[in-house]
Amino acid sequence: MNGLIMDFQLTIPAMLRRAEQLHFAREIVTRRPDKSYHRYTYADMVERSKRLSLALGNLGIKNGDRVGTFSWNHYQHLEAYFGIPGAGAVLHTLNLRLHPNDLTYIAGHAGDKIVLVDDVLWPLFEKFKDQVPFEHVVVIPTTGKPVPAGTLDYEELLASADPARYEYPDLDERQAAAMCYTSGTTGKPKGVVASHRAIVIHSLANGMADTLAVCERDVAQAVVPMFHANAWGLPFCCTLVGSKQVFPGPHLDPQGLLEQIQEERVTITAGVPTIWLGILQILDKDPKAFDLTSLRAMVVGGSAAPPSMIQGFQERHNLKIVHAWGMTELCPMGTVANLPAGLDGASQKEQYAFRAKQGRPVPMVELRGRNENGIIPWDGQAMGELEVRGPWIAAGYYECPEGAASFTDDGWFRTGDIVAIFPDGCIQLQDRAKDVIKSGGEWISSVQLENALMGHPAVAEAAVIPVEHPKWAERPLAVVVLKQDQQASPEELIEFLTPHFAKWWLPDAVEFASEIPRTSAGKFLKSALRDRYRDYYATNGAAMKERKQPA
Ligand code: ADP
Repeated sequence: MNGLIMDFQLTIPAMLRRAEQLHFAREIVTRRPDKSYHRYTYADMVERSKRLSLALGNLGIKNGDRVGTFSWNHYQHLEAYFGIPGAGAVLHTLNLRLHPNDLTYIAGHAGDKIVLVDDVLWPLFEKFKDQVPFEHVVVIPTTGKPVPAGTLDYEELLASADPARYEYPDLDERQAAAMCYTSGTTGKPKGVVASHRAIVIHSLANGMADTLAVCERDVAQAVVPMFHANAWGLPFCCTLVGSKQVFPGPHLDPQGLLEQIQEERVTITAGVPTIWLGILQILDKDPKAFDLTSLRAMVVGGSAAPPSMIQGFQERHNLKIVHAWGMTELCPMGTVANLPAGLDGASQKEQYAFRAKQGRPVPMVELRGRNENGIIPWDGQAMGELEVRGPWIAAGYYECPEGAASFTDDGWFRTGDIVAIFPDGCIQLQDRAKDVIKSGGEWISSVQLENALMGHPAVAEAAVIPVEHPKWAERPLAVVVLKQDQQASPEELIEFLTPHFAKWWLPDAVEFASEIPRTSAGKFLKSALRDRYRDYYATNGAAMKERKQPA
C-alpha cells in the first residue's frame, strides 16, 4: 500500500517561488569590484532570475542544455543559480582558478552552449574562449564599461525579457540542475551533476539546527566561491529560508572580509581554513580593530581546521568555528562537528578535541569505513577509506566510464578520504588516500602531524609529505612556514610533537619554506611539494633521523 501524499516535485523553481511569496523584502548585498555596494531585495532577484530564464529560452536554450558561469560571488551569479535551472537548463559553474587547458577540457566536456562571464574576468576567459564552441558569450558588466565586441550584454539581455511572461515550469525533480567538476584524485576532472531534488533536500538539511542552522534571521556571507561546490550550497539554502545574503565579490582578502562582516552585521560565514588563518593573524595583532559581535558561526571545511585555530578564535576573540567536512560529490555537505549534548559537561579539552574532528553525518548521510580487512569498527582507532551514501551524493560522474571505480558494487561512494570513526559516529579525517604516509606498511596521518605543528606559536603553516625511503618505503617530512619575525629550530618542532605521537610517526626532518603552494580552492597543493622533495632522502638521507618502527 502506498502513502496518500502528493508527489510534489522538489525543484529549484519551487524554492524561487517561495522567495517571491515570502522573502521579497529581505536584502541581498554585493561588494562590486570598485568596492562600492550594490543592494537589492529578493523581489528584484526573483524578477531578474525570471528574465534570465526567458532570455536563455530566446537564445535557444532547451531543457537539459548546459549554461556555464565564470564569475565571482555576486548578485548576478545568484540570479544565474536560479535563472539557469529555472529555464530547465543546467548551471555549470567554471572554476576561474583553473588552468586554461583544464577549463577548455571542462567546458568542452560538459558541452556548455552559453557562458556568462564577469567583465573583470575577461582576460582569464580570453585564454580559453576560442577553444570551446560556445554558441553565445554573455558578459556581466560589473564595472560600467561596454562589453567586448561579439558578446552579449547581460543587462541588455535581461531588459529584453518580460518577467510577466514567465511561468514556473513543472520540472521533474530528478532532472539535472547544476554541475561542477572536481579535480578528483586521479586523471581528468570529473563532472558531478546534482539534481533539483538533491539541491532542495541538501538545502533543507543545511537549515537544520544540528547542521548549519541557516535561518531567515541570518546574514550569510559565502566566502567559499560560488564556482566551487556551489559555495557549499549556501546560495540555495539562504534563498529557501530567506536569509540576507552578503557577497564579497572579488574582495576575498582578510581585511575586506572583516570590513564586510562588521558593516553588514554578518551572522554566519563560510570558507577554507587558509582564509581564517589570515583573519586570525589580523585579529591577534589588534583584537579591537573590528566589531564582530554579530557573528554566530564561522563554518570551516575543505581541509582540516587546525585545533589551535579553533581554540584561538574561541579563547582570544570569542568567535565560534564550526568544522565541517564535504566534497563536490556530496553537494557538498557530509558531516558537521556540532557539539553533541553528551559533551555539554565535558572538559574544555574534550570539547575542543571533538570540535577539531570533522563531525557527525548530516541527517540522511550514511557512512562507513573500509580497509584491506573489510569494514572498520567505529572505535576511533582503525583507519579506512570513508564510503558514503545518501540523497544528495553522486551516483556516478558525467560521461566518465573510469569514474565507476569510485563506487562500490553495493552503491556507496568511495570518497578517497582515510578516516577513523568514533563510537558516536564522529569521523576524524587522517588523510586523502593519496597523501597518507605509508611507513613500513603502517599508515601515518599527515593531517594530524600538520595540525599539531600549526599549534606551535612560531608556525604559520605546515604540510607533512611522504619522501621515499629505502627501508620504510616512505617517511614523513615536515615543510614549515614560520610566522613573520618568529624562529624555531627543527629539533624544537620535533620536540613539540613528541608528547602527542608514537615515536615512529614523528617527521624524520623539517624543511623551512617561504610558502606552501596552493590548489585552486586554496588548499595545500601537496603534489607540488612531493615533486619538489621527491629525492629528499637521496640528498639528505644521512642527516635524517631514523626512527624505530614496530615490526
Ligand atoms: P577537490 O579538492 O578534490 O577538488 P573538493 O573541493 O570537493 O574536491 O574537496 C573535497 C575534499 O576536501 C575531501 O575529500 C577532503 O579530502 C577535503 N576536506 C573537505 N573538508 C575537510 C575537512 N573538514 N577536513 C579535512 N579535509 C577536508
